[in-house]
Amino acid sequence: MPEISVKDQLKKIIELQKIDAEIYELRARLKEKPVVLGELKERFEERRGTLVGLEEKLKAVQVQRREKELELKTREEEIAKANAHLFQIKTNKEYTAKIAEIEHIKADKSVIEEKILLAYDEGDQVSSAVEREKSAFAQEEKSYLAKKKEVEKEVKIIEDRIRVLESQHKQGVEGIDPEFLSRYERILKHKGGLAIVPLHGNTCGGCYMNVTAQQINAFKMNDQLVICEMCTRIIYIEDDM
Ligand SMILES: [Zn+2]
Repeated sequence: MPEISVKDQLKKIIELQKIDAEIYELRARLKEKPVVLGELKERFEERRGTLVGLEEKLKAVQVQRREKELELKTREEEIAKANAHLFQIKTNKEYTAKIAEIEHIKADKSVIEEKILLAYDEGDQVSSAVEREKSAFAQEEKSYLAKKKEVEKEVKIIEDRIRVLESQHKQGVEGIDPEFLSRYERILKHKGGLAIVPLHGNTCGGCYMNVTAQQINAFKMNDQLVICEMCTRIIYIEDDM
């Protein structure tokens, strides 16, 4: 294979960098997608939690009401029994005591009736809250599923584009000196997807620190790679390309 000059190598690497920068950017975007989906799902699950909580509350209110209704029935039976007993009583004292007992049960009974009414009111309120939440949840579910679909579509587009770029990358590395290439790839990995940068005036296009004139001359004279001493990126002179 004929020797390729440093300059031609650089040209190839510059082209490769364009492809790799896009791959890097797309991969970064791809990484964000599960985060976005996770947040959407969390909000959706929160809404579901609110609905389930309300439904449980409604159930509890109904159970309590039924318990009170059973208690009420017991009191009514007690009153009926005590009333029937009145006819069998022989003494005034016993009679007065029984009447007092009946009054006591009646007072108890009206407290229970009050509680039942309150339970009905609370049940109605919670029940309408459940209905409202059900419709809000249905809305949230619909929008969650739509957004999920949208994100999944975006992911697919990005993945397809990455596949195209990866095949371009494969073609792009042909003819590049393996040592040069592995150096480039090492920098690419550690320097945010940017391994080769143009010289801006006398500063590095990657970290914007000064590059010494000596280095620039060395590059121009000897056809060698210039590496930024600050950020270790490969620097090239655009005019020369
Ligand atoms: Zn630099």
